[in-house]
Amino acid sequence: MTRFIFVTGGVVSSLGKGITTASIAVLLEKRGLKVSIQKLDPYINVDPGTMSPFEHGEVYVTEDGAESDLDLGHYERFSHAPIGRHSNATTGSIYSAVIRKERRGDYLGKTVQVIPHITDEIQDAIRRGAPKGTDVAVIEIGGTAGDIESLPFLEAIRQFALSLPAKQAMFVHLTLLPFLSASGEMKTKPTQQSVGKLREIGIMPHVLVCRCEKPMTAEMRRKISLFCNVRAEDVIQEIDVETTIYEVPLDLKREGLDSAIVRHLGLEHTPEVDLQDWEDLCERVRHPRAKLEIAVVGKYIQLHDAYKSIYEALAHAAAGLSAAVSFRKISAEECAEGDPARLLAGVDGLLVPGGFGERGLEGKIRAIQWARENDVPCFGICFGMQAMALEYARHVAGIPGAHSTEVAPGCSDPVIDLLPDQAKVDEKGGTMRLGAYPCRLTEGSRAAQYYGHDLVFERHRHRWEFNNAYRAKLEHAGLTCSGVYEKQDLVEVIELSERDFYLGVQYHPEFKSKPLEPHPLFHAFVGAALARRDAAEGDGEESSTEEPQRAGARA
Ligand code: GLN
Repeated sequence: MTRFIFVTGGVVSSLGKGITTASIAVLLEKRGLKVSIQKLDPYINVDPGTMSPFEHGEVYVTEDGAESDLDLGHYERFSHAPIGRHSNATTGSIYSAVIRKERRGDYLGKTVQVIPHITDEIQDAIRRGAPKGTDVAVIEIGGTAGDIESLPFLEAIRQFALSLPAKQAMFVHLTLLPFLSASGEMKTKPTQQSVGKLREIGIMPHVLVCRCEKPMTAEMRRKISLFCNVRAEDVIQEIDVETTIYEVPLDLKREGLDSAIVRHLGLEHTPEVDLQDWEDLCERVRHPRAKLEIAVVGKYIQLHDAYKSIYEALAHAAAGLSAAVSFRKISAEECAEGDPARLLAGVDGLLVPGGFGERGLEGKIRAIQWARENDVPCFGICFGMQAMALEYARHVAGIPGAHSTEVAPGCSDPVIDLLPDQAKVDEKGGTMRLGAYPCRLTEGSRAAQYYGHDLVFERHRHRWEFNNAYRAKLEHAGLTCSGVYEKQDLVEVIELSERDFYLGVQYHPEFKSKPLEPHPLFHAFVGAALARRDAAEGDGEESSTEEPQRAGARA
């Protein structure tokens, strides 16, 4: 028997509903329950794959190749819930499924309507999101109560809960208690109004989680309880965290959220939560023993969410090494025009992330050249790995015309090129090489050494590939192709094996890093950068004065 928790949001967006949802999953998992997590998004895009990172932050790729919401990244980092294509549904995906059925004649001549056809389809998606054997399914509803576009989702979850026996479904509503500095107090009225919005559609929240800057007083709790019709012990404060979002599960446990949930779901018999591993993690994040600075050269550096998983993965690795990492975010275009040596001076490592069709490619190549020539640890991911291959081809292997046909379609030396099956594709959504593929690592290579295995599964999201016509020439010049997808003989990993860390990967390892289980490549990269910093400090070089980024700092 699966129980369902629906998490809605009120008052304003960006309250950290994804993190609260992920934290609920952690608390239940720690009680020995099998948890699934799902996000229902009210926008019309079928998935975020076609949205610009400026619109929606990074596109998070699941193991089974879905391009999905970045909140799924929080879910995977926090919990062990199985995350895949059924973990995210949007208005667009729901409507396209209904329209497909209508065209096929599945509705037997009926008028197709929002209620019941769209709402039924949403309920089917909710069932698909909770695999067999799930004890508790946690479902986050995107958007804010009162939005026009979330209405069908709210109606669907109301119907869904109604169809279940008592104690098998519950609603958790996340709201904001704004602090008015003029009057020096926190206000409960917006919370009352957003609960009122839910009640209008027939949803009575069982638990209210209130985001606040300052502690909630007993009087406020009583008032919220009375006006919102929620018992006082079910009004939970979620105070702004001091250093890291990884404190949220600890705070919510302390405030009694998990006890409130198990009481409403009849799961009181489950063991008490032990969060020692999270306590230890937060302790390491709060009191780092060392500092380092990593440069990230990309197109979307103004927006932290655009490379969310990468920053997180770096911070996980740093926390694992009891260090704190700060980021020097450098625009690739600035690097193309300016002086890379000046922009990058003093950093301990360079990370070049993924990208698409960028004018910034030349800037990335110049940054990589600087790192290679100055023996600075360098990590290229996807487009970043392609840029590393081009840099090496141009400046070491004697192929000055080396380019990617993505940026220069008619170039003389297409070191990065499309495979014939990708060249035929004309639709943008969902047509890349997506999801996990096996990669065989060369025995004795740096890559195999970092992973400690020679077969790994990593997630992809790209169209262009390393062109095998240039492999021998680049290898002859000293570059090692140390990982391949054997079935199609595609190069997945390149490295300079004599370096401590100079490695490019065609895939996205950042999606598999967790705060409690840092990814081996990020661990090795940050380790090499730290070693370099130690050596430099030994030589009396100034260390960076940048304020370090904590693992899970709220951006
Ligand atoms: N634009 C490149 C490609 O499609 C790289 C994609 C990426 O970095 N995710 O191959």
